[in-house]
Amino acid sequence: MPATATGGRWRRFWEQRARQLQRQVQAKEERIVDLETENAVLHLRLAQYQGAAGQSGSASAGLCSLCGPRARLPRSPHAALLRLRPVIQALKQDVKALHASFLEVFRNFWDHLQTGLSEVAEGVQRAQLQHQALLSWRSKAGHLERRLQEADSRYQLEKQRRKVLHNRLVELKGNIRVHCRIRPLLPFDEESEDPASRNSSVPAEVVHAVDDETVLVKCDRAAHPPINNTYSFERVYGPAESQQAVFGDVCPLLTSLLDGYNVCIMAYGQTGCGKSYTMLGPQSTGEPVPPWEPHSDLGVLPRAAGELFRLISENPSRSLKVDVSIVEVHNNDIFDLLAKDGRTAASGPKREVLTAQEAKQEVGLLTREPVHSAAEFMALAAGSLQLRAELATSVHANSSRSHLIITATLTTAPARGSPGAHHPRAAEQQANRPRPEGSRRSAPGGRAWLGALGAQRPAEQVHAKLQLVDLAGSECVGVSGVTGSALRETSFINRSLAALADVLGALAERRGHVPYRNSKLTHFLQDVLGGDAKLLVILCVSPCRKHVAETLRCLGFGARARQVQRGQARGGSPAPRKPR
Ligand code: ADP
Ligand code: MG
Repeated sequence: MPATATGGRWRRFWEQRARQLQRQVQAKEERIVDLETENAVLHLRLAQYQGAAGQSGSASAGLCSLCGPRARLPRSPHAALLRLRPVIQALKQDVKALHASFLEVFRNFWDHLQTGLSEVAEGVQRAQLQHQALLSWRSKAGHLERRLQEADSRYQLEKQRRKVLHNRLVELKGNIRVHCRIRPLLPFDEESEDPASRNSSVPAEVVHAVDDETVLVKCDRAAHPPINNTYSFERVYGPAESQQAVFGDVCPLLTSLLDGYNVCIMAYGQTGCGKSYTMLGPQSTGEPVPPWEPHSDLGVLPRAAGELFRLISENPSRSLKVDVSIVEVHNNDIFDLLAKDGRTAASGPKREVLTAQEAKQEVGLLTREPVHSAAEFMALAAGSLQLRAELATSVHANSSRSHLIITATLTTAPARGSPGAHHPRAAEQQANRPRPEGSRRSAPGGRAWLGALGAQRPAEQVHAKLQLVDLAGSECVGVSGVTGSALRETSFINRSLAALADVLGALAERRGHVPYRNSKLTHFLQDVLGGDAKLLVILCVSPCRKHVAETLRCLGFGARARQVQRGQARGGSPAPRKPR
């Protein structure tokens, strides 16, 4: 529980207690006033009785004075005495009764006075005790508040340290990481096999996960040299491994994203090897992962959307906003799949990549839709996926002919007085951390103010961005069997993938010039290739004998991409681990 919440609760408790005590003291004071009033009434009554006693004394004196002359008047004093006796008796009784009632009133008054006084004394004592208790609680509350402030500042410091440590951990694992996923053998693999191979003794599955870091490609075919190659990657998923397992390794990158680093997760591989399945899920659309369905088949996109909003909700004080843009790179052109203007039934309008200062790229007038939940994110993605260029090839009935890039840009209101206060650089400087090698480019999280190009809210600052990329298939023309305009598409796809390999190669060799602009794909992904950005390439491969040549090409690409990280870590350009 956050320490500020505990402090707030204590403060409310003591305020309530003080109010309660005040009410009690007030009640006592009212009681004292009542008793004083009662006391005054009793005094009044006493005075009345005293007055009455005085009156009856004077009455009896009057009688005596009346009797005096009479006593002189009657001839017989004895008779006069007899006549006065009952009067005297009555007067005596009156005086007695008066005396008794006076005593009674006095006793009552005295009792009331005693009780009232002891109540007042008790009340005062209690009030004093409570006042002391209040003072002691007040000092305790002050002490707790100070401790809360200390804990809060320690928490902030630890949070910054965690950010730095998490980033170091991710960097140690590799700013560019390559995972390999082998999909299971599927019914259409056998259908696409030629009858001769179907009957051959060579097993249909030629790609195996030896352990969770090694892939083995083993194939002996007649008239072909035998293949027995192993490749190592940061993680290898066998055919039985779930979408959940894949996402488990993606998850830490989302923490880096919230820490302010650009993150890119891309699926690379031949058509039909499971890129869209991995990134989007089986239906290639989907919804945010429901927490009660941990084994569902949802891909990286819906799970990442769910996790992103979960992480944002964990720290609402940061008030991060999420804007989504979705583009496809088709035949080396960028199409905005969220644009409402110039949209056709088959595609979004074409956009140009424009480069702003600080090597930060933006696509001119790219539509950015704000989203407030994973469900909204997925609704946008589902709508735009329908516009994506697809084609049935001999390898796969729904072969994607374009690179799909879904970008979630996290923006934050500028911190008063210190722009970029949330940025990891601030944390790094605080920890006196030397800048990592290879972070030559100036803005990992894109510190540039929105507003230069395609801006919607100029007052906001880019915190970081997440790019999820479902690449088009790295086709082998002979296997996919495409012709005509599809062949042209294939050539564009292969050229852009070659440009991607060139960029990663230039980064690995630490060349001064990185050829980002050789293709729209690499130009668009410039912010997330190299530097501080975290890139995860998921190589998707088919286990099938028929696709072994393309699988080897794909694994070769992954092995080269891995050198980027190794090169950065060692400060040189190491020799790749040659497949055996
Ligand atoms: P790509 O996008 O690489 O062209 P897809 O993701 O569309 O390929 O996958 C091709 C087919 O294989 C789809 O029917 C998909 O459901 C299936 N598939 C891919 N990977 C897996 C997997 N790991 N488990 C089960 N089915 C898979
Ligand atoms: Mg696909």
